[in-house]
Amino acid sequence: MNPTLDLLKTLIARPSNTPDDAGCCEVLMQRLAPLGFSAEYFNAGGVTNLWATLTRGEGPLFVFAGHTDVVPTGPLDQWTSDPFTPTERNGLLYGRGAADMKSGISAMVTAVERFVADTDWAGTLAFLITSDEEGPATFGTQHAIAQLKARGVVPDYAIVGEASSNVALGDRIMVGRRGSLNGKLTVLGKQGHVAYPHKVENPVLRFGPVLAKLAAEVWDEGNADFPPTSFQVSNIHAGTGATNVVPGTLEVVFNFRYCTESTAAGLKARVHAMLDAEQVRYSLDWQLSGEPFLTRQGALTEAASAAIEAETGLTPERFTGGGTSDARFIAPWGAQTVEIGPINESIHKLDEHVRIDDLAPLSRIYQGILTRLLARGT
Ligand SMILES: [Zn+2]
Repeated sequence: MNPTLDLLKTLIARPSNTPDDAGCCEVLMQRLAPLGFSAEYFNAGGVTNLWATLTRGEGPLFVFAGHTDVVPTGPLDQWTSDPFTPTERNGLLYGRGAADMKSGISAMVTAVERFVADTDWAGTLAFLITSDEEGPATFGTQHAIAQLKARGVVPDYAIVGEASSNVALGDRIMVGRRGSLNGKLTVLGKQGHVAYPHKVENPVLRFGPVLAKLAAEVWDEGNADFPPTSFQVSNIHAGTGATNVVPGTLEVVFNFRYCTESTAAGLKARVHAMLDAEQVRYSLDWQLSGEPFLTRQGALTEAASAAIEAETGLTPERFTGGGTSDARFIAPWGAQTVEIGPINESIHKLDEHVRIDDLAPLSRIYQGILTRLLARGT
């Protein structure tokens, strides 16, 4: 009997290609409603956002956060079995969303089922589930949070069930994320014949020295929780294709992954200063896709470490690397926020899978955290 596995299979069978929830939240409410949870939906722009809560007296607001949407499967003929037909092979369960993150959601639900049945507790338990985490995420978690914030709802603790583990369940928890800042730069020049250098202004040659400076710059030194801020160029383009034409413009797309030692405003100012120092004519559009956050040692991280140790014998590493997740919206809301979930090795890949033997322990880890934070007399 493995209720987490059973629920996971039910969810994988629903092809919830982002941002389609494909009925996953209804499946979750079929489990949560009998426990007394009430559901509210903050749907917008084709995105399903479920806010389900259960209150027992005065106590902390504890949020389980997750997403039902999955990334595209890629070529179906390269999957060993159909991505939306949950399939067991050699101790692994295969399917799109198996690791990212329908196993996390399933384990949260079964953890809450046992916790509510077995424990004398106080506080509010909540699920914040979106169907747009893998897409633009505009109408997902941040949209729901805006509605809740307007009512004065502020959580104390949040667990995001993203695949955080590295090689063994519980070996790593995500306690922060770097910020992500994109810049789209257009360097302006003057198009003309390559044979007449005095009549043209070459934006490539203009930008060359600035690029060298951007590449060599030490933005910060990082800190105990974060690696140093990094600058990368993802796209660069100029030229008409002809060999005898100086292009009129150069377009560059770049990204900062930045730590809590830097700010978006500070990085922007430094880039503008470098461009201005070389007297480059340009336009520059910025897009901030997430501020960095860090959950310092506290009640949640201590409960998480203790629950993981009790279940697995491992002491989890505090980790802040990797890509962004909805924790970027939840942490600034005011909650101590950590991401705890299964091994992340296969996420977004063909033949995505999760270890079946990790499912019940993951559920018990979530339950152990709830018990440490919400049980009466603890
Ligand atoms: Zn995910």
